[in-house]
Amino acid sequence: MTKKINRRTFLQSSAALATATISGQGYAQSTSGESPVIGGKFSSPAPIPAKKGPRVVIVGGGWSGLTMAKYLKKTNPKFDVVLLDKNQQFVSCPISNVWMADQVNLDFLTHSYVEAAQNNDYLFLNATALELDRTSKILVTTLGSIKYDYLVVAPGIDYDYNRIGVDNPEDEYALRMNYPAGFSSASEIMAIKHKLHNFKGGTLVLTVPSGNYRCIAAPYERACMAAAIFKKHNIRGKILLLDMNSDIRIKAEGFKKAFAEYYGNIIQYEPSAEINGVRVVDKEIETDFDSYQFDDAVIYPPVRASSIIEEFGLSDESSLQKEAAIDPFKYHLVDDESVYVTGDSRSQPFSKSGNTAHSEARYVAEVISAHADGKQIEWRSPQTMCFSGVRIDPLESMSIIAFYKYDEAEKSFAFDRSHLMDKWNERAGQAGLAWAEGMYRDMFYS
Ligand SMILES: Cc1cc2nc3c(=O)[nH]c(=O)nc-3n(C[C@H](O)[C@H](O)[C@H](O)COP(=O)(O)OP(=O)(O)OC[C@H]3O[C@@H](n4cnc5c(N)ncnc54)[C@H](O)[C@@H]3O)c2cc1C
Repeated sequence: MTKKINRRTFLQSSAALATATISGQGYAQSTSGESPVIGGKFSSPAPIPAKKGPRVVIVGGGWSGLTMAKYLKKTNPKFDVVLLDKNQQFVSCPISNVWMADQVNLDFLTHSYVEAAQNNDYLFLNATALELDRTSKILVTTLGSIKYDYLVVAPGIDYDYNRIGVDNPEDEYALRMNYPAGFSSASEIMAIKHKLHNFKGGTLVLTVPSGNYRCIAAPYERACMAAAIFKKHNIRGKILLLDMNSDIRIKAEGFKKAFAEYYGNIIQYEPSAEINGVRVVDKEIETDFDSYQFDDAVIYPPVRASSIIEEFGLSDESSLQKEAAIDPFKYHLVDDESVYVTGDSRSQPFSKSGNTAHSEARYVAEVISAHADGKQIEWRSPQTMCFSGVRIDPLESMSIIAFYKYDEAEKSFAFDRSHLMDKWNERAGQAGLAWAEGMYRDMFYS
């Protein structure tokens, strides 16, 4: 019988693998001579220099973690900052839709953690965070443990397939492999690009999740880019855009106009398509009212905070998306001022976007720095900025910029001022690329 792999056995084999790698490289070994095991007994220290000041460890080198690492050092040069990511290099999700349609090349999206760390005077460790011991302030990783003074957890999102009626691991695996969502990893995004360019014709299903999913505009932008690819390469395909929401969630007038004007014979938009099951073998997707046959699909399920938020015991039990139990203004855990959660795992209802994560991380870096000095700073809203490609060759885009305010009466956050440009043009297309370039420059260079 095939042995079932669950997360626990997977973690144990990763730890064993890491031990082998560490031994092979001559790094510190367990003093008992036994293989370190996770659960507080992983005795090897991670292979990084001894700390030279209060140590801030950051889990996740995405938009939030990279910005945090740089601005922590800038705000308080005495901090000894360690950035951890499971990937060897950074590949940007923003701009990946227009990359699929060949409007930029892969170099535009890909950046080096080594360079970011060198340019901004912090340490980078290519390792996966496995376990957290908050009492001893120790983070256990695949390369050993790290003691922290402050910990920032910024691991992004995970998909929640349960919310589209997929609750057994084999079906979920089949969906992840056959119809990847393309909202989390570079591998998924590359698989989708190949799918689009090699589509043999017929119906391609794209889905839009409900809830506060990552990048509200991106699934609609992806439909435009996929249709533009079909048009350019004379692919006789129809795109069935199944939206779990009752209407297009953002830039609605613009997207509706674009669908009608340019892609009327390609995109079929179906709102209120509450997905409750997918038959992988039969290539059939079921909603509350209908079922749809497809030839291929890109299935984006609702999202939740990265599962390590829950596994590390940091999540708010009452949160549908299992987001972190943090102070909404200062971002530290409600019961621990040395642990912070930022980026798309946060609990606040801000748009899960790169620009939001970037502006928020600059603010939280100041919050942590002030905390270390026994001070406090005033709350500042993050800024959401999102460009959406509509047409290609040349790229034409729409954009939105928004800020947030706290509504004391409602005890919740709401949009404050915003600026919507839902008429696409080439200047906005160029502005979107310039925005991304500026962000990469800020995160990777000094
Ligand atoms: C197609 C697409 C288009 C988008 N367009 C835009 C846009 O136009 N504008 C915009 O602002 N945003 C956009 N976004 C959203 C943006 O990408 C995310 O909101 C942003 O990446 C969130 O940043 P983050 O740091 O929270 O998460 P991420 O950037 O996902 O970073 C999380 C990091 O944590 C690492 N990690 C996770 N678990 C562990 C672990 N256990 N150990 C070590 N490392 C770990 C991951 O490898 C990852 O690098 C888009 C997203 C997609 C998918």
